[in-house]
Amino acid sequence: MSTIAAISTPRAAGGISVIRISGEKSLDLADKIFSPLSSDVPPSEMKGYTCAYGKIGDGGSVLDDGVITVFRAPRSYTGEDVVEISCHGGIFVTEQVLRLILSKGAVPAEPGEFTKRAFLNGKMSLTQAEAVMDVISAGGKAELRCAASLREGALFRNIKNVSDSVLNLLASLAAWVDYPDDDIPAVTDEEILTILGSAVSRLDTLLAGYDSGRILRQGVDTAIVGKPNVGKSTLMNLLAGCQRSIVTDIAGTTRDIVEESVRLGDIVLRLSDTAGIRETGDVVENAGVELAKKKLETSDLILAVFDTGEELSKEDIEIAESCRGRNSVAILNKSDRPQKFDFSKIVDCFKKSIFCSAREGKVPEELTSALEELFQVENISPDVGILANERQRSCAENARAAFSEALSVFKGGATYDAVTILIDDGENYLLELTGERASEAVVNEVFSRFCVGK
Ligand code: GDP
Repeated sequence: MSTIAAISTPRAAGGISVIRISGEKSLDLADKIFSPLSSDVPPSEMKGYTCAYGKIGDGGSVLDDGVITVFRAPRSYTGEDVVEISCHGGIFVTEQVLRLILSKGAVPAEPGEFTKRAFLNGKMSLTQAEAVMDVISAGGKAELRCAASLREGALFRNIKNVSDSVLNLLASLAAWVDYPDDDIPAVTDEEILTILGSAVSRLDTLLAGYDSGRILRQGVDTAIVGKPNVGKSTLMNLLAGCQRSIVTDIAGTTRDIVEESVRLGDIVLRLSDTAGIRETGDVVENAGVELAKKKLETSDLILAVFDTGEELSKEDIEIAESCRGRNSVAILNKSDRPQKFDFSKIVDCFKKSIFCSAREGKVPEELTSALEELFQVENISPDVGILANERQRSCAENARAAFSEALSVFKGGATYDAVTILIDDGENYLLELTGERASEAVVNEVFSRFCVGK
């Protein structure tokens, strides 16, 4: 396998940059570009987990001074010999050091290649590798908690547990099918039912937690809807804490969807300010209305804004009706105005309702607690493992479907042979989930989403 190198720190000026080299030739390569000043020992003779200070350069010409850290296989991130060079954090100097390393025989690392090698060398499971990326991109405490639990292997252990018991069952079934006359203890029907039933129910739990987990990781996709002029932009600006979308007194001026992420308690809202839902002949606004309706269909949360200083109108009722059965909160805005709004007619369209005066510039605390309740953040327990992405979800879903079919055909009196095929199918999906039997294409797809240097 080639020896790879990449800059592992962000492409920006900073105190230090780190260039990482991994592969068989890392240490020899380090000898060629690094002369230690803190000792006489060249990198190739350094012990694992030790560092040295010295000059980085090519024979006569010195590019920089810095520190190298040596990790010896298999005790390194990738499982191979790894050298990390910390040099001054200028973009130019860092790129010069990388270029020098490449000129001595290393090849530029692909995105995620260090972590991919770690996976291929058995340093971590595929789900743990995926979590590395989540840790890097975590924007808040809850996301980091999920990513950390995934890295620590909670999901892997949970799936492995299911997969091991199914594998045992498969082995017994195979022995029984192949040597029915031998003295092999027969698999009891009871055993088959218990193992499959437990596999299905554990996968059910994981799948049920997927949406809450996704919300913790990625935030709640939120649509702010309402007639023109009810205060949607004002609310959006209030939540976002800055003047982002244009607030005007002319009805229907918010034409495009403006997006913004805000944090309320444990929840991140991904807000989009949409044009008011209403019938209109105006072509430009219609495009916005279409977008808004689409947004309504795909959002995790709807904040429906009403102007309580006005009478309840036909449009308000229409908007309220489209929120029925969804995760929707009525924002009864302009509570500072003399109240004319009859909320009782639409109250049952919403999960929660909150009075507020968006113009007064304070996010009502009730909104935060209503959302935490709505999304049941306190019930999410990263300790049992969380399916972190669509790939993992679909593997779990397919495995569940196969086991549940096996269960029902078995109850219907099918032969062990027929049941075995279905169980085997499900087991393959579990092994794909953990990466123990993932195709090269799946593995490549996972790592292609990483950044270079990780
Ligand atoms: P949008 O068309 O729904 O986005 O509404 P805007 O946010 O542009 O607000 C329309 C008008 O209502 C503006 O003049 C706002 O200042 C005003 N407004 C927004 N919220 C409040 C509120 O809580 N009380 C009062 N009295 N006026 C508000």
